[in-house]
Amino acid sequence: MSSAEQTYDVVVLGAGSTGENVADVVVRGGLSAVLVEEHLVGGECSYYACMPSKALLRGTEALEEARAVQGAAAAVTGEQDVAATLERRDSFTHDWDDSSQVGWVEGAGIGLLRGTARLDGERTVVVTGPDGATTRLTARHAVAVCTGSEAAVPPVDGLPDVQPWTPREATSAKEAPRRLLVVGGGYVGCEMSFAWNALGSQVTLFQRGDRLLPAAEPQAGDAVAASLRDHGVDVRLGAHVSAARRDGDEVVLTVDGGEVRGDEVLVAVGRRARTTAIGVDTVGLEPGEYLDVDDTLQVRGLSWLYGVGDVNGRRQLTHMGKYQARQAGAAIVARARGEEVSGADWSPHAATADHAATPSVVFTLPQVASVGLTSAQARERGLPHRVVEHPIGSVAGASLFADGYEGTAIAVVDTRREVLLGVTFVGPAVAELLHAATVAVVGEVPIARLWHAVPAYPTVSEIWLRLLEAWRG
Ligand SMILES: Cc1cc2nc3c(=O)[nH]c(=O)nc-3n(C[C@H](O)[C@H](O)[C@H](O)COP(=O)(O)OP(=O)(O)OC[C@H]3O[C@@H](n4cnc5c(N)ncnc54)[C@H](O)[C@@H]3O)c2cc1C
Repeated sequence: MSSAEQTYDVVVLGAGSTGENVADVVVRGGLSAVLVEEHLVGGECSYYACMPSKALLRGTEALEEARAVQGAAAAVTGEQDVAATLERRDSFTHDWDDSSQVGWVEGAGIGLLRGTARLDGERTVVVTGPDGATTRLTARHAVAVCTGSEAAVPPVDGLPDVQPWTPREATSAKEAPRRLLVVGGGYVGCEMSFAWNALGSQVTLFQRGDRLLPAAEPQAGDAVAASLRDHGVDVRLGAHVSAARRDGDEVVLTVDGGEVRGDEVLVAVGRRARTTAIGVDTVGLEPGEYLDVDDTLQVRGLSWLYGVGDVNGRRQLTHMGKYQARQAGAAIVARARGEEVSGADWSPHAATADHAATPSVVFTLPQVASVGLTSAQARERGLPHRVVEHPIGSVAGASLFADGYEGTAIAVVDTRREVLLGVTFVGPAVAELLHAATVAVVGEVPIARLWHAVPAYPTVSEIWLRLLEAWRG
């Protein structure tokens, strides 16, 4: 089999949203870069995660919004067109064809090599192409590992043998199973329960703990559980799934000693690092572990190696991977130029927002949009704080948006510095409220100054005034 050798300033393993951005930033900084991709250029987000999952959910949300407005509701006379919804989902994934993203990579002046990459000692990556030919890549300045994460399967007896759905199948399925069992009540389990329930499946959701969305403020998980139940999903909290088997076409789960039958089972219990087969052992690291990086995304102890995006386990969200990519890319360029690199708070080379200012949205009905610390995290960190809460439905903009609008805003305020540590909104269409909160948290805007940030009338953003009043008491 043929073998070739190539040298670039930067070699990037994995052309997901993170890898693409690392390569783009370093090329814009005057370095050469190559992306190595074994599946689809664009990665999980474009084909099996953010985009298809939100495309599956959006129709249901649009219908609910119309049904919540007297007058408009009368126009909603039919059901959601499932085939058209799936077709729209497929248009967002380009039918799992990455040509348009390949075009972008080429246009950006980034090299692209199709194949499976493995580290082979310092600054060296060996790529095995689809035809078995190998290419040995040498990096003058840096290797960035952006291989992402994959679905974790819990140690449940028989589960791997029933060929459970992972989020990949849940976002790309061509039809709704009649009965869908969902194991895991984090954001993927909750979003996919809403989506497939609305598209015709009878969904049962098993959550081991006593609350859905355990990482969020408790009000969020409670509201989402209540809404899932209102929509007809069987939500079982405190459920222990101990075994799985196939019986003909059916999948049978043993749950708390009893049996539950379905047509498919989705396992959504978290992620694990995609570092098992990428040669990290050749540079002294443990396969299967998340890459341990500092705030400039440099792997500790290896100055030429970076771990960016899901693969470092810091914040497994597309926008945070892209943010880390911008910071890591800037650090790589600066180091290549011999410039000083700072890992200090809010430096252009450091992803410090990972620690205390990460925004995220769960696209359930209601949505859950949050940034910064929850009250539990503020407590764990020993920060002096007070929690203020207000119903969003009390503001004029919300009652115009939807009849009987129900939602909650929760702010965690640092009582010593009088700045926001975190904000959570739970309610219909709250995602677009989030960035104002992110700016306030990142900017550490004093509460006294926030009084001068006047929200327009009548918008849902007036909830900010109510939160400030609740803080003043
Ligand atoms: C169902 C679901 C919904 C989600 N929804 C959202 C959302 O709404 N918003 C949000 O912000 N985040 C969301 N996420 C998280 C988001 O998808 C990830 O954080 C993001 O995709 C991570 O990007 P990445 O580039 O780090 O990794 P990936 O996208 O996984 O990219 C890694 C790439 O590396 C390639 N690769 C791996 N190993 C090799 C190798 N050895 N050689 C060559 N190539 C290799 C892979 O093929 C892949 O293309 C969701 C996740 C799931 C599962």
